[in-house]
Amino acid sequence: MSKKIALITGITGQDGSYLADLLLKKKYQVIGITSGKGARDNIETIQDRIEWVEGDLTNEEFVRNIVGRYLPDEIYNLASIATVAKPWEHMRELVHLTGLTPIYFLESIRTLSPTTHFFQASSSEMFGAVEVTPQDESTPLHPRNPYGAAKVFAHNMVDVYRSGHNIFAVSGILYNHESPRRPEHFVTRKITSTLAKISLGMDKNLSVGNLDARRDWGFSGDYVRAMHLSLQHEKAQDYVIASGTAHSVREFIEAACAELGIKISWEGEGLSEVGVDEKGTSIVTIAKEFYRPLELHILQGDASRARKELGWSPDVTFEDLVARMVRADIKHQKGLI
Ligand code: GDP
Repeated sequence: MSKKIALITGITGQDGSYLADLLLKKKYQVIGITSGKGARDNIETIQDRIEWVEGDLTNEEFVRNIVGRYLPDEIYNLASIATVAKPWEHMRELVHLTGLTPIYFLESIRTLSPTTHFFQASSSEMFGAVEVTPQDESTPLHPRNPYGAAKVFAHNMVDVYRSGHNIFAVSGILYNHESPRRPEHFVTRKITSTLAKISLGMDKNLSVGNLDARRDWGFSGDYVRAMHLSLQHEKAQDYVIASGTAHSVREFIEAACAELGIKISWEGEGLSEVGVDEKGTSIVTIAKEFYRPLELHILQGDASRARKELGWSPDVTFEDLVARMVRADIKHQKGLI
């Protein structure tokens, strides 16, 4: 039997690299689309087993050509400009890649490769100003930033192609998911990397924003498993992929300190709150530049459908996730990885 062909956009990123690991283990032929700009650290060990195609995903002709050339069994569209912190700076690229590129894929599938299964990485950011917690696939979408709004457009187009053209297209509504491969501008990795350095005497202070901001954090490796399962199911539909539990930034810091053997306690309040270690030395402070207003409602997902229909559940708990990230950062700082 010939190998199944999977095409992955965003393959050098956190999710793309975990997904490529998984699909190679499952004996897929993996085609990786790259802009040629991103670092390849995440896929260093497997890059020779991937067939690379370099090009611009905002170019419709390029997308058509790769779909027509490979006629893939599965396409995973994970390419994204992930951070929502400074969306106005690169609005056009953000809207194009997030909103239009998925449609280039859907239209190429419709016209050139109608049996291809398509996975669109949607985001909990689509819920925006949520009115209910937790959210599931039927929760109304009220995006509150351009990234979320563009993701909603792509999410709706997945449904248009699925119901109108009978394309096997799935939108996975992914909540925050982290790993040692998470870039450091996300709060989780920033915490584990900085606290690892502090514990090794290589840094003195972790500066963060809102300690009481809460997120539903899971492990990326678990989430890519859900992506793959969703394309093997008999029916194409949307899935919330989430851990189902929200934790605060403060709890994340406390769990990281526990893993490092640091006894942290909190003093003061508001912007002058500090986290001190057992010697009374301040190691965590609050900085206005990282402070975002507290959301009224919490993004917390209900992944019952994925559990029931795909038999999916996360293997890695919150404490495991933090511990894995901390241990990897310690190794990283010691030059062991
Ligand atoms: P995202 O905003 O959900 O894509 O992910 P982030 O990791 O950037 O932020 C998660 C939450 O952590 C948000 O509610 C932030 O307000 C909060 N947060 C608190 N301190 C920081 C910080 O220093 N950096 C970042 N990025 N987020 C922070």
